[in-house]
Amino acid sequence: MRHFILLSLVASILSACANAAVYTPQVGRDEIATEQGYQKDYVKSVNKAKLDAPLSKDTQERVAVIFARIEKAGGDVCSYLANGQPCNYPFKLITEPAKEAATPNAYADGKGVFVYAGLVNMLQGEEELAFVLSHEYAHNVLQHVNKQSLNMSLGMLAGAAADALLASQGMSTGGQFTKVGANAGALQYSSSYEREADYVGMYIVARAGFDVSRGTDVWRKMAANNPDSIYLSSTHPNTAERYVAMQKTIQEIMAKEAQGQPLLPNKIVAQ
Ligand SMILES: [Zn+2]
Repeated sequence: MRHFILLSLVASILSACANAAVYTPQVGRDEIATEQGYQKDYVKSVNKAKLDAPLSKDTQERVAVIFARIEKAGGDVCSYLANGQPCNYPFKLITEPAKEAATPNAYADGKGVFVYAGLVNMLQGEEELAFVLSHEYAHNVLQHVNKQSLNMSLGMLAGAAADALLASQGMSTGGQFTKVGANAGALQYSSSYEREADYVGMYIVARAGFDVSRGTDVWRKMAANNPDSIYLSSTHPNTAERYVAMQKTIQEIMAKEAQGQPLLPNKIVAQ
């Protein structure tokens, strides 16, 4: 009984967590399963990219041009979603130290986007790179870093309340619930934030003038780099689901283009 009360307490505080802001495509289980089968074979058929090659001056210049295009297009999408709040999230390419730079990764910290040379080595086509960069830019636009830390604090608060309650019953928990709560809060919406960033990111790619129908292999390449990501992940949707969702977003964007509608993501309308 006591555990039930604790769990409902934690759940009720977590339900106050910041959740999604934009619509994202619905993806069926069968569609995911089909793509998982494809990616499983794809992973076997490709050679892993050489991630630690130093980037030539040419490549660095090409990347800088992509950065500029996405900053501009991302700024437009940002002013649409962020109600006129200033949106300036510069990109930074990390080329050293060499070992760290070889990571095939990029991240957003709420102020800018940091891109490792390894990612540029892994994604050859500029559309693929544009997609990952726009995804990270979208995390900033959607304020995910702030929301994540708000969720973590809310979770921590819920856990601390549980610890205090148990302490008042004479049970020492050593702050265990505070830690568990913080983790649960941080993970609360992490997959839906990824879906949102994929969706909004695709609109940024389109507005930056890249061909959205190219570059869809990005999730298959990510899968080749980390085959476990085809099936499971606690913080991100799997690469098969992301591939299918990306296809649906492309269809949505192409339909808007054909009808001469503005290329802007669909917001969730408050009920
Ligand atoms: Zn992400």
